[in-house]
Amino acid sequence: MRTPRLRHKVLLIALVSFLTVSGVAAIVRLQTGRPLAEPGLPAVVTASPAPALVSSNISPETSEGAASPASLSSSAEGQTENEQQFEQAAQQNAELQNNLSWTFGGKQQKGWYLYIPLIRHLIGTESSPQEAAFALALSRWQRSVGLPPNGVLDNTTLAVMITTWQSRRIKDKAYPSPDQLVMIPTSDLYDPMRPEELRKAETEAYAAYKRMMAAAVADKSLKLAVTGSGELAASEKYLKIVSAFRSREYQEQLRKQSPNAGRAGLAVNSPHFTGRALDLYVGGEPVSTEDSNRAIQVQTKVYLWLVKNAERFGFRPYFYEPWHWEYVPNG
Ligand SMILES: [Zn+2]
Repeated sequence: MRTPRLRHKVLLIALVSFLTVSGVAAIVRLQTGRPLAEPGLPAVVTASPAPALVSSNISPETSEGAASPASLSSSAEGQTENEQQFEQAAQQNAELQNNLSWTFGGKQQKGWYLYIPLIRHLIGTESSPQEAAFALALSRWQRSVGLPPNGVLDNTTLAVMITTWQSRRIKDKAYPSPDQLVMIPTSDLYDPMRPEELRKAETEAYAAYKRMMAAAVADKSLKLAVTGSGELAASEKYLKIVSAFRSREYQEQLRKQSPNAGRAGLAVNSPHFTGRALDLYVGGEPVSTEDSNRAIQVQTKVYLWLVKNAERFGFRPYFYEPWHWEYVPNG
């Protein structure tokens, strides 16, 4: 196929250069922005570097008029207003993901890059913030929640996203009775030496965790170390339970030990009181909210897997702590 086609091409160029030197010159002028040598000197067309340009640009399709320079330029101008808008929004999002200034928990925050996996999941896209497709997906989500659909992830949009995530967390903070708690086997713990009083979880939440782990273990792309019976191996740290049920007494003790700790983990009304909040190991320092630590965590395969799959098992994220997941099976 190649040789006849090439011959066809050469013939075509010869024909074109012989018959319509001025026409070719006009096309080349359009493409290079500078005029060719004088018409009437066809030798230039074959001897100078220009022919390469001519032969690579003038394909048989061009000669058939399917994509003349004129039609190419009109398709570039034919970009719709929406496309231009989303490309501009993408430029803004590329900047805002690192620099948007906002506050959370009384602390100054910079950018929303740490929440990109959650944001993508929420707005239903695999695209990156610097892509127009991300802005388009965002605009659809904005419209669905009654925001101006401009495709820009600004303070207003981020605030509504956070409200959405927060509204899906544990609302019923009932304290479990002792018979609603199970002892977590040490093989499921990030720290197998964890004292017994800190090894409990609410029964249903723990059962849901085990179902979720069966699915994670079955997903070979996560490359988790697994035992012969299909459990996470002792050597595997990912997705092991760092912390679950914390008694009011224990939480009070923690707060007395570090009265100035602003960490949500030491909150007076912690979801860990319910036994249905699980801190899972997703990489880095297990439970440090330092941006640099969370930046590591939100890129691990297991975290990305949780973002996409945890909800199937009733687990909802706490957006600010990549390791913290709450069992909220029915809404
Ligand atoms: Zn937690």
